[in-house]
Amino acid sequence: RELPGDLDGAPRPRQVRGAAWSKVLPTPVAKPRLMVAVPEVAALLDLTTTELESPEMVEVLAGNRVLPGMQPYAACYGGHQFGHWAGQLGDGRAITLGEVINTRGERWEMQLKGAGRTPYSRTADGRAVMRSSVRELVCSEAMFHLGVPTTRALSLVATGEDVVRDVMYSGDPRPEPGAIVCRVAPSFLRFGNFEIFASRDEIDLLRALADHTIRAHFAHLGAPSRETYGAWLAEVCRRTAEMVMHWMRVGFVHGVMNTDNMSILGLTIDYGPYGWLEGYDPSWTPNTTDAGGRRYRYGHQPNVAWWNLQRLARALVPLVGDDVAILERALMTYGETLEAREAEMIAKKLGLRALDVGPAGDDVPMVQELYELLEAFETDMTIFFRRLADVPSDPGDVTDAALIAPLEDAFYGEPPEDHRHRVATWLRRYAERVRADGTNDVERRAKMNAVNPKYVCRNYLAQLAIDDAEKGDPGKVLALLDVLRRPYDDQPGKDEYAMKRPEWARHRVGCSM
Ligand code: AMP
Ligand code: MG
Ligand code: MG
Repeated sequence: RELPGDLDGAPRPRQVRGAAWSKVLPTPVAKPRLMVAVPEVAALLDLTTTELESPEMVEVLAGNRVLPGMQPYAACYGGHQFGHWAGQLGDGRAITLGEVINTRGERWEMQLKGAGRTPYSRTADGRAVMRSSVRELVCSEAMFHLGVPTTRALSLVATGEDVVRDVMYSGDPRPEPGAIVCRVAPSFLRFGNFEIFASRDEIDLLRALADHTIRAHFAHLGAPSRETYGAWLAEVCRRTAEMVMHWMRVGFVHGVMNTDNMSILGLTIDYGPYGWLEGYDPSWTPNTTDAGGRRYRYGHQPNVAWWNLQRLARALVPLVGDDVAILERALMTYGETLEAREAEMIAKKLGLRALDVGPAGDDVPMVQELYELLEAFETDMTIFFRRLADVPSDPGDVTDAALIAPLEDAFYGEPPEDHRHRVATWLRRYAERVRADGTNDVERRAKMNAVNPKYVCRNYLAQLAIDDAEKGDPGKVLALLDVLRRPYDDQPGKDEYAMKRPEWARHRVGCSM
């Protein structure tokens, strides 16, 4: 806590200057009830589920009680939202309780989301609804088990209080049950924490925060100096590129990649109106407030991350004086990492050792044709790649229908004959490429199934779990969490979680705030 803070303690909305955080206590709730405790996250904090379930801890997870040693605060940050500088934002409904250093020496920050108003709440209530809390908890844990860098979720508490929210798609404000998630990460620092100080010309504070971040989270880079700031930015670029490539791999669309929602540690953070691709569609976005869906669509995520990193680099300029070339060089790491990881990612999804996908690469036409096919007729991305592993590399003289058979479940509707023929032709070409690669089918299947998940946090599955959670029953949330713990395994009896979205759910994806 060496960074200067604002010690007022009142949640009165204000511009907080000269401080990186504001002391504020969670606002107690009426009738807390622990709905979900995540044992593997508890273990990170050296806690058992039994300890988590104790009445005392439930009070802590609800914000009704603060333990000795905790000094709750809300962080001050700004951000670029939808391409424009938005000024001060800050933790408007998130309150950090403190950090735990576990027996392995790891540092974990515990943060309550929905714990009441802070100086950064502006006109909002500081609360969160059950719907968005379930979505954050389930999806962040699903992402972790998929191998995607992410913040974690320890618990979900029903507050026993109603919260009124505008439901985006109906425009109809209605009361919904409130909830609080305790989320956990080494740090929740965002690009926007640095941007706010640069924007206000608070350079001492900017340097103090940068040095703190490096010492606490990037200590391997050495003592802070101009060179270290460059190496640090390069590492943020690298981690961000890797994170985004994981999103592309599993079909995750963040939906609000504003710079206040970009973690300095390269973690997926702030699960709001996110969504999962069902039919493969690069132009799809779950964010109904993203006018025209241009900015935060699936296929645009690598570009937006790049734009956001440039905003971060600009904020760091005062730290390097006239040596901006240090930052410019660091930024190049993004494109380099992205290119390398993208080729690796596609190769792995296809079960190939390596892919030549450079501008003049031999595999480019095959890959392009694949993505065109996936777009030309609505095809479930997850099911398609999972089943591709079952297509034999030596199909022999089979009919188109027999060749396509393993992929049949991936189609939304009945593809026309010419499309089937194109898919079959592509599969023959792919099979030939696999034979040239020399991996046998058993080995290829195992490798592909380790990167192409069978179970993802499908939008409608989360919604079914939410419907019950809102009535007080966490059963489906727990069941979904459980399946999503092993997303790459074939789990007997769990096929209902691996099916494509049913037709009734086509237009029922709630944008969640
Ligand atoms: P987001 O778009 O969810 O990243 O949020 C942008 C800003 O709005 C952040 O400063 C949030 O803390 C704040 N915010 C969002 N929802 C609420 C809420 N219900 N109460 C207070 N602040 C909020
Ligand atoms: Mg946010
Ligand atoms: Mg949010």
